[in-house]
Amino acid sequence: MGFFNAISNWKAAKYEKKIAEMQSQGICPDCYGRGFNPLLLHEFLYTNLYDCPGCNGSGLFADWAQATQASE
Ligand SMILES: [Zn+2]
Repeated sequence: MGFFNAISNWKAAKYEKKIAEMQSQGICPDCYGRGFNPLLLHEFLYTNLYDCPGCNGSGLFADWAQATQASE
């Protein structure tokens, strides 16, 4: 149990560090401020070609945070 807790704590800490970094730069963690996510392009090919689902294509951290909080 302790070992797995350590792993999940480490992952959470790493994720939070990434989020904090993106926040300090003011850019969306999902698309790194580009407004779209190339990894998701094939999934959104026929719907939303370029818009990042996290920030709705703005690339701004504020929009990402708002969308993330609203969905939780
Ligand atoms: Zn984004």
